[in-house]
Amino acid sequence: MIRTLFQRRATDLTNKRSLFSIKNFIITGIFGGIGYTIYKRYSDDSKKTFSPNRFLPLTVSEITPVNHNTRIFRLKFPRALKEPIPIASCVQVKDDSTQIMREYTPISPINELNFIDLLVKRYDNGHMSRLIHNLKIGDKFEVRGPVVTLPYTPNMKKHIGMITFFLFLDDILLYNDFKELSKNHPNQLKIYYTLDKPPKDNWTQGVGYVSEEMVKENIPAPNEDVLVLVCGPSSGGKASDMSQGLVRGILKKLGYTQDQRNLPEINYLCYS
Ligand SMILES: Cc1cc2nc3c(=O)[nH]c(=O)nc-3n(C[C@H](O)[C@H](O)[C@H](O)COP(=O)(O)OP(=O)(O)OC[C@H]3O[C@@H](n4cnc5c(N)ncnc54)[C@H](O)[C@@H]3O)c2cc1C
Repeated sequence: MIRTLFQRRATDLTNKRSLFSIKNFIITGIFGGIGYTIYKRYSDDSKKTFSPNRFLPLTVSEITPVNHNTRIFRLKFPRALKEPIPIASCVQVKDDSTQIMREYTPISPINELNFIDLLVKRYDNGHMSRLIHNLKIGDKFEVRGPVVTLPYTPNMKKHIGMITFFLFLDDILLYNDFKELSKNHPNQLKIYYTLDKPPKDNWTQGVGYVSEEMVKENIPAPNEDVLVLVCGPSSGGKASDMSQGLVRGILKKLGYTQDQRNLPEINYLCYS
């Protein structure tokens, strides 16, 4: 009798215990499931988020030729951005096989949320530009950003002067767009070109490197409401340490201070 009672109690206890562990199992399962869903959504989300901290594969959705060595590549985001890319910022692209990275400045409309347009000039021996020029529609390409090069805000300065260097007319990308803009906004955008090797006919603007006279005539005089941005290849007078060589000399001579001349990162603002 005692034995039977003891056995029944033992069976009850086992049943309770197994009920308890089933309950535990279900609760753990529910919480685990919720946790996993949150984790998965978060990690899927961060995998689709365009950020300066991780490379995101973007899809080439359009390729538009500009001239013999330059094309515009439209790269589509996996989902729309929450806010537009700031003006005066660049993106970084990576070749996974070599881990080589380069910067490009998006030229897409400022409020665009679905894609970026990169205007890429192909260099014959250039690693990344050749790789980009070999991309086809539908290919994916690793991009991260934006990296803000100049925290630009509208009207931050009354006048902004920009100096860059070209050898040939063909080197001036978006030449017609700039022409159109300066024609439509003559009081806001004035452009003066100087070319080291100008076309033989019909060239009415500057010839040779940027000179002191050219700066005096075309760049607003030094003043705290003026910002001057400088970039260009080494032939334009850039020193080997990437600081501005020749131009620094001219600007300094004309009385521009470090604040008006450049911001530390401005060497990276544009390209040629
Ligand atoms: C902030 C920023 C924004 C930029 N935005 C743009 C943009 O919007 N569009 C754009 O087209 N570019 C842009 N650039 C330039 C771009 O990042 C690359 O530098 C450019 O595309 C060349 O890269 P690459 O790998 O093709 O050439 P690289 O391999 O770096 O070669 C560059 C040049 O050096 C020469 N070269 C390479 N190796 C050798 C060697 N061993 N000996 C001698 N010469 C050699 C090449 O022929 C080429 O002329 C930007 C740069 C910066 C910093």
